[in-house]
Amino acid sequence: MRIVVLAGGIGGARFLRGLKAAAPDADITVIGNTGDDIHLFGLKVCPDLDTVMYTLGGGIHEGQGWGRADETFTVKEELAAYGVGPDWFGLGDRDFATHIIRTQMITAGYPLSAVTEALCARWQPGVRLIPMTDDRVETHVVIDAPEDGGRKAVHFQEYWVRLHASVPAHAVLPVGAEQSKPAPGVLEAIGEADVVLFPPSNPVVSIGTILAVPGMREAIADAGVPVVGLSPIVGNAPVRGMADKVLAAVGVESTAAAVAKHYGSGLLDGWLVDTVDAATVGEVEEAGINCRAVPLMMTDIEAAARMAREALALAKEVSS
Ligand code: GDP
Ligand code: CA
Repeated sequence: MRIVVLAGGIGGARFLRGLKAAAPDADITVIGNTGDDIHLFGLKVCPDLDTVMYTLGGGIHEGQGWGRADETFTVKEELAAYGVGPDWFGLGDRDFATHIIRTQMITAGYPLSAVTEALCARWQPGVRLIPMTDDRVETHVVIDAPEDGGRKAVHFQEYWVRLHASVPAHAVLPVGAEQSKPAPGVLEAIGEADVVLFPPSNPVVSIGTILAVPGMREAIADAGVPVVGLSPIVGNAPVRGMADKVLAAVGVESTAAAVAKHYGSGLLDGWLVDTVDAATVGEVEEAGINCRAVPLMMTDIEAAARMAREALALAKEVSS
């Protein structure tokens, strides 16, 4: 079975770990979000690709869900001693090595997709990880700028990590997306897939950004295979993080049903909501999307694997 998964960071990575356990013989291609990418200290940092790579490769900091296990922060401390920032983005020493190699390869002319493949040669994530595009796309968030009486756009990481999404987001802009092209292998993988899954990743700044790459949404909708998603919203709130803030920016309520309708029946064939949201199943089905209520908390790998099995079962059901 060939499975294509669109993934952000933590939600995507933890689901993928379950999917690998649930379908050990499947051929899994992951299309990773690169809208979160940022240049820091002259280095190209790809937080979502690295979260997937480290999680599936066994190098992730389990408690945190991002960054490396057994990390130290000597380089960060030395940079701070020079007064060189930003100090709000925590890059550890082990993690720095990944960004140094990535930047070195990109400077030498390799596209991000080739660099990602090279990094994965070490981590052996057990999936084919492809960035959504080799082109530069950067998610920006429009916030109030009271100091000049107007609004300004800040990099997504500044909004998320420095400001902790504590101020209202008026718009989310995937800058550069319109001019971008899917990375080599992306459209081919979708065209050859038996099923496409949307893990419980952020619908706006993770999956929404991937879908903003021209041709991506059409390729998935026209693939003629079941497309099944899992809600990152449980009991009207994100399980972790601040997805409600960016959903509000695109005019979508923080409910499992509203997220399903935001993707729409033109894209989604099936949708899983948590059992606490069982009362919304009818609303999702009225919108033309098959819906089931099952436990959606990824407390451990086995729980994530059960979610993956439910998603594959629903895919089978909608395709028959
Ligand atoms: P990020 O890039 O690290 O923010 O990760 P993703 O975009 O892949 O996933 C973030 C989303 O995962 C958040 O909106 C969370 O609500 C969701 N999430 C995290 N853990 C769980 C879980 O155990 N169950 C469900 N249903 N969603 C989760
Ligand atoms: Ca992310």
